[in-house]
Amino acid sequence: MATAVRLDELTRLSVEELSGIGPARARALNALGVETIYDLVTYFPRRYIDRSRQVSIGEAVPGEQVLLVGRVVDARRIPTRGGRVIVEAQLVDASGKITLTFFGQPYRAKQLASIAGEVAVFGRVELFRRRRQMTNPLVDPIGDKTGAIVPLYSLREAAGLNSSDIARAVAQVFSTYSDFVDVLPPSLRDHLGMYDVYQALWQLHFPSNEQARQIARRRVAFDELFLLQVKLAQLRAEREALAVATVHDTHPFGAGEARLVEDFLSRLPFAPTTGQLTAVGEIAADMASEKAMHRLLQGDVGSGKTLVSVLAMLFAVQSGHQAVLVAPTEVLADQHFRSISALLAETKTPDSSTGRLFEGLPRPVTIDILTGSTPAARRRKLLAELADGYLDIVVGTHALFNDELSFASLGLVVVDEQHRFGVEQRSALTDRVTLQQGSSPDTLVMTATPIPRTAAMTVYGDLDVSVIEGLPPGRRSIETRWARTPAEATAAFELLRQQVGQGRQGYVVCPVVEESTKLQVRAVTDEYERLNNAELAGLRLGLVHGRMNSKAKEEVMAAFRSREIDVLVATTVIEVGVDVANATVMIIEDADRFGIAQLHQLRGRVGRGAEQSYCYLLSEAETAVAEARLGALVATEDGFALAEVDLELRGEGTVLGGRQAGRTDLKVASLSRDRELVLEARQHARAIIALDRSLAKHPRLRAMILALFGEDEADFLLRS
Ligand code: ADP
Ligand code: MG
Repeated sequence: MATAVRLDELTRLSVEELSGIGPARARALNALGVETIYDLVTYFPRRYIDRSRQVSIGEAVPGEQVLLVGRVVDARRIPTRGGRVIVEAQLVDASGKITLTFFGQPYRAKQLASIAGEVAVFGRVELFRRRRQMTNPLVDPIGDKTGAIVPLYSLREAAGLNSSDIARAVAQVFSTYSDFVDVLPPSLRDHLGMYDVYQALWQLHFPSNEQARQIARRRVAFDELFLLQVKLAQLRAEREALAVATVHDTHPFGAGEARLVEDFLSRLPFAPTTGQLTAVGEIAADMASEKAMHRLLQGDVGSGKTLVSVLAMLFAVQSGHQAVLVAPTEVLADQHFRSISALLAETKTPDSSTGRLFEGLPRPVTIDILTGSTPAARRRKLLAELADGYLDIVVGTHALFNDELSFASLGLVVVDEQHRFGVEQRSALTDRVTLQQGSSPDTLVMTATPIPRTAAMTVYGDLDVSVIEGLPPGRRSIETRWARTPAEATAAFELLRQQVGQGRQGYVVCPVVEESTKLQVRAVTDEYERLNNAELAGLRLGLVHGRMNSKAKEEVMAAFRSREIDVLVATTVIEVGVDVANATVMIIEDADRFGIAQLHQLRGRVGRGAEQSYCYLLSEAETAVAEARLGALVATEDGFALAEVDLELRGEGTVLGGRQAGRTDLKVASLSRDRELVLEARQHARAIIALDRSLAKHPRLRAMILALFGEDEADFLLRS
């Protein structure tokens, strides 16, 4: 008897409940990440074949890309002289046969031999020794499934299943239940004008036609984004309801009378940009309120995020509280410590509102640094100074999350990060402090490079966002060139020599070698030696890589800053944050091996002073990806525009971090293609949560959110 079922119930039913799925098949499905019936109905086809477009093998014309369906016979391995293996097989149907040839895929022999039933083969027909063949075609076992549009599921290696097994199991779910209870409030569904969830899921597996599939995809994509946004909105609302935050004196950006920030600004050698002031204003409003701040600060490379974060920290300090700044690496922590110390050098607290030990006396703002390599004695001293309130600001790495740290009064946590690292550690710190002092510190998160708006809304969806628009004035554009030939590469090094001749400095970045850090060190060391004897002979070179201990690294960086070194040869340890205004040339070797965000971040290491700067991307690669990436870098310096290109090229996986696939992943929705859906989903989710935080009035939605984002999954969601 067919009945309606709630989708959250399906998250609790094992696929073994289906007839025809015994332990062996269940195991095979589990290997694909499909454990429950819900997992199964949301295991969407990777592709479809439209059998109305299928060509019979006898009619396949050399030069054309075609879809063929047939049976594989005679699959065998043919060893070549070079020690490689070629796999050859024949594909046959009633009209004829064609040879399939696979290079570099030795597993194919066994795989092809094990297939019972038909396979769909897609590729270009070639003529080789007057025989028709296909080289490395796409092969999908389809079993005995017939019908116009056939779903093809990703099976990975040797799952012991074919696409028709999965299709049959999916179809069985739909014949068992006459309907899936929709979690979208009816008004919202009507407003969006979409398929109901049952129809949408069915059509995504077994589309009647392409148009129906697209409508279905939109609905399923919306659901994915919507459920995620509901959870994020809920997290945000719960956090706001729970903790009372420290109320800061944000003068002159808001209420209060403390004059530290005013004094600091009056000594600043430059005026903050309008973009910086707007962001500071938003931060000030949060910090002055009893609601805990959870804000993401975005800005392009060089937009001056550091200054904005310093002003936020000074709001805390002038209110008698402390601030910490957590950086992802020691190099970066050190860099922040230096630049913030320099910014604060002249500043004295002009009034008695600050500090615990100096009550009533003007004094400098106190700042120190704590990392994993801080010596034990200094660490002990620092911990004591934090606990008794002597220290106003501490910069450091993850060492700052250590349980041993206790604060006189922590008012602000600033996190500078590349991905969403350490969310749990961060909230563990704020939770602990909140318990101790009875009010929650505010949190400001900064990203190293811009991330697209839709991605920010998804990955950082529980945070409010401030964007620093524009760059400080007087920045010249960085001349970016793609050096595609050895002659052009030589010209790049020539220009570097010239610039050094004029008193400037530069960087040469070597790519990360994947295999091992040992090899990586070898590679960069070799390149350093080579440059020393060839292109850059006679210049003073320095070498820095991730395997050096922090003291050695710091010595090289110090020598570079004080201009005892002309050119720094480095791995990407210099990627983030390094700030030497006299450096005007950045040469990136094998530039196609880096991602767009990384290249943009590297380029941002130059162009920090008044001089014209140059960035050379060395790469002879002629791949489409290289064209797209390096072409984009040459075309624009706008980090937000580059981030959009990056998202389109790389897809969501990398944006969401290298997480393992989970139930909460976006399977259908695309952050680049479905931009307006992301906005819509967020808007509707926030509207619902604003009126009904616990979803008491939306019980079905509530059950689904619980099923999808149980405690574990919620943490998972926020982890990188
Ligand atoms: P990012 O946003 O990449 O972290 P930084 O905070 O490192 O940028 O700032 C880049 C450089 O610009 C630093 O040398 C900083 O001192 C300088 N800077 C920041 N704000 C201004 C400003 N308003 N006017 C002039 N220079 C500024
Ligand atoms: Mg920075």
